[in-house]
Amino acid sequence: MNEYDSNRIYDLTSAIGFKKTDIKKDADCFVLNTCHIREKATEKVYDEIGRVKKDFKNLKKPLVIVSGCVAQAESGEMIKREPYIDMVIGPQSYHKIGDLIFNYQRKKQKINETEFDVIGKFDYLQKISNSQNKISSYITIQEGCDKFCHFCVVPYTRGPEYSRPFEQIINEAHTLVSNGAKEIILLGQNVNAYNFYKNNKNYKLSSLINELNNIKNLKRIRFTTSHPKDMTEDLINCYKDCEKLMPFLHLPIQSGSNKVLKSMNRKHHREDYMSIIKKLKNINKDIKISSDFIVGYPGETEKDFNDTIELIKKVGFINSYSFIFSPRPGTPANEKKLNNTEESEKRLRKLQNILENFQLENNKIYLQQYCEVLIENKLDNQEKYFGRTKFMTPVIFESENCKPGELVNVKITTFNQKNLFGFHKANKEKAA
Ligand code: SF4
Repeated sequence: MNEYDSNRIYDLTSAIGFKKTDIKKDADCFVLNTCHIREKATEKVYDEIGRVKKDFKNLKKPLVIVSGCVAQAESGEMIKREPYIDMVIGPQSYHKIGDLIFNYQRKKQKINETEFDVIGKFDYLQKISNSQNKISSYITIQEGCDKFCHFCVVPYTRGPEYSRPFEQIINEAHTLVSNGAKEIILLGQNVNAYNFYKNNKNYKLSSLINELNNIKNLKRIRFTTSHPKDMTEDLINCYKDCEKLMPFLHLPIQSGSNKVLKSMNRKHHREDYMSIIKKLKNINKDIKISSDFIVGYPGETEKDFNDTIELIKKVGFINSYSFIFSPRPGTPANEKKLNNTEESEKRLRKLQNILENFQLENNKIYLQQYCEVLIENKLDNQEKYFGRTKFMTPVIFESENCKPGELVNVKITTFNQKNLFGFHKANKEKAA
């Protein structure tokens, strides 16, 4: 989502005359668009500003803006701690960046803009054309979260759940497809909680997918990140009805233990999760799943951990994110007693080994097979291309006659844990 926001910030600032530069010292304005999910996010922002300060020691001071979730969480404190910062702008206020820059240039007063103005944001953004021209392009359809998992900062930094108007999203999708996009990834902190009402009609994520499925030059549709609680039947049925929806789902579970899920306030049980997987596999037995795991959550016992391992083995995730629990200030889990670090590290290693093996085994399946790949770009200075399979696996391959945006069948000749490698020749083989 930060990549989407950064692109939109670029569209907004270019509307008032700014241009991107790759030469750091040429910049007269820095925007640090920040994420608060990872550990030590705040300190990393101050480190980066320290580097800008050093580079501009003998030069005219640039305008320094911190936007995104760190700006939201830290607010005016950032300007107090680091006076080199001129402005902090929260993720729901960045549409105002043009006016804020003009105000700052006129009055030279520091600005702290961290209101939750998500409706105003998307109303404003629809007037500024989305200039993204990537083969695989993002559209934010939903923001914020009402779930309040006890470990997570999102409800505090992005605010309550908000769904963008249906037509606004479809119009943006048409713009991106006419810019050259062949794949659209619908984004939201709780993307499958998308819920928009107009004229007594209720539009859900499934309505969006069905509508996108009709866009002629669009080849692939994906969405992320979903919550198990919102995996409704209509959405599951899209995997049957919409051929452009890719057979791959990222569905975070966090833990395989019901006791830990309750303590995390996840609002679902492992049985709910397994029932979703079963329904999806009934529709398409080849559908593949990835997930997120938190290891060593306060109170996690060996048995709880083994429940997670057992669930991983049952589902056979093809690639997943896993971390040791780390407390975030302001969240309920921040108050809990931490588990033993050594034990958590040992558990994480075990869990990651199992996940990595599944990933390797999954990649091995493609050896000497043909895979359908959407080409995203040509690699710099090489006769090689980069693309992804239907299941998001990266593929690097040689070809003499293809171009970005095409769907091609690539013969896989080798692989590692994360990537497949091969070559493409015009052929009639059927791809996986
Ligand atoms: S559902 Fe996701 S975004 Fe919402 S609080 Fe839980 S982890 Fe955070």
